[in-house]
Amino acid sequence: FTAISYWSMLPSMNDDHDIRKSYQWLEKAGLKDSTEALILAAQEQALNTRAIEAQIYHTRQDPRCRLCKEASETVQHITAGCKMLAGKAYMERHNQVASIVYRNICAEYGLEAPRSKWGTPPKVVENDRAKILWDFQIQTDKMVMANQPDIVVVDKEQRKAVVVDVAIPSDHNIRKKEHEKLEKYQGLREELEKAWKVKTTVVPVVIGALGAVTPKLEQWLKQIPGTTSDISVQKCAVLGTAKILRRTLKLPG
Ligand SMILES: [Zn+2]
Repeated sequence: FTAISYWSMLPSMNDDHDIRKSYQWLEKAGLKDSTEALILAAQEQALNTRAIEAQIYHTRQDPRCRLCKEASETVQHITAGCKMLAGKAYMERHNQVASIVYRNICAEYGLEAPRSKWGTPPKVVENDRAKILWDFQIQTDKMVMANQPDIVVVDKEQRKAVVVDVAIPSDHNIRKKEHEKLEKYQGLREELEKAWKVKTTVVPVVIGALGAVTPKLEQWLKQIPGTTSDISVQKCAVLGTAKILRRTLKLPG
């Protein structure tokens, strides 16, 4: 099974649990064959990027990225490292994943989420059980650097808040990114506990662009109100990546 060799080669993928979790989307997500093949090819670096053309096939192709003309055009660059894709394509993929989590939180508290899958959630929704903030800049007494996480949910009955932030880095960066996200929001967590008098937890939701996840993802998702499966967010991230690869490399499908 080719995916196993890929995952076991990644430095961050050094135990079986990671590997099993990271290719489960292949078995369970129900992707189209062509999408599955595309992602497997991306994992194996078997896509015709400019860097591959120049280095492996020794053509005269300029190995630099066709969009930013800066970095070498590798799968890793296109799927998570190109500044020309950051503003729109990566943002769209990120927001799709975040909105799955958001909708499940809304459902848990009987709050209405946007009808369309593509609709941007309102900044604040609230009822007597909960308040949910989407991409909301939170004012705090003490200045904190990171004060605009993707989602904040306050459970009014349990007096608990959860700060959720989503990231889709390259597969080999998932552990580092998870750690970064946790650190980044500790200041906000402390300020919220003081100002709102609620027990606050920071939850990173990090999925590699080609589907890699850390063993902790399932536990993180359990800390978020509502039910979000790891497969649903993995599938969403991978579909977003497939779209980016197809558009950038002008592949069919
Ligand atoms: Zn680029």
